[in-house]
Amino acid sequence: MNDEQLLRYSRHILLDEIGIEGQQKLLAARVLVIGAGGLGSPAALYLASAGVGHLTIVDDDDVDLTNLQRQIAHTTARIGQPKALSAQEAIGAINPDVRVTALIERVDEARLAELAAASDVVLDCTDNFRTRHAVNRACVAARVPLVSGAVIRFDGQVSVFDPRSADAPCYSCLFPQDQAFEDVACSTMGVFAPLVGVVGATQAAEALKIVMGIGTSLAGRLLMLDGLRMEWTSIGVGRAAGCPVCSL
Ligand SMILES: [Zn+2]
Repeated sequence: MNDEQLLRYSRHILLDEIGIEGQQKLLAARVLVIGAGGLGSPAALYLASAGVGHLTIVDDDDVDLTNLQRQIAHTTARIGQPKALSAQEAIGAINPDVRVTALIERVDEARLAELAAASDVVLDCTDNFRTRHAVNRACVAARVPLVSGAVIRFDGQVSVFDPRSADAPCYSCLFPQDQAFEDVACSTMGVFAPLVGVVGATQAAEALKIVMGIGTSLAGRLLMLDGLRMEWTSIGVGRAAGCPVCSL
């Protein structure tokens, strides 16, 4: 680390659990963020400010006026621009140390597998079950930890699925693929702006801890937030017997 980095990351380095060693792990890390919307914005901004060396941000959507109530990586001036590029610009303004690969694409199964395998940790910041399951399959196959977040209305949830440990559940153990979940889009259901910040920042925290190997992750636990009552609940999640994704 150079002098500027020692200053930039000094409040991390001061933490016994992080120190120079932990910060160097962050600088060497490759993190994949899928979705640059409500969750992806705060998640990517914190990963970047914290000094993750290489961020890949995937989103095929453009910034829209209705996004700006909660998607804090974007600005009024960047309406109409691809979200991945807008997020890249926001990150560059905060921390030019970070190498950002902005991918303006709708990733298919093969592409996800390739991207997951090249990452130390993956953040699912998308808003539909089809993509969530595809991301989960890619992470299980590549044995890369997945930090999953979701927010709708005033409710949020976040968990970690870590296929590196033999008995950890995957996303599909919790939400089976054949179950007919109805996708409730933010566009029709609404979402309380700060909730995506709380959940997205929690995803960033879990990803940073995983990269540095500190603390205890949310693996095996689903953390749920009732934003109206501001109450957190956590339930244990076990591996589902015969899960078609992770029990093979
Ligand atoms: Zn599973």
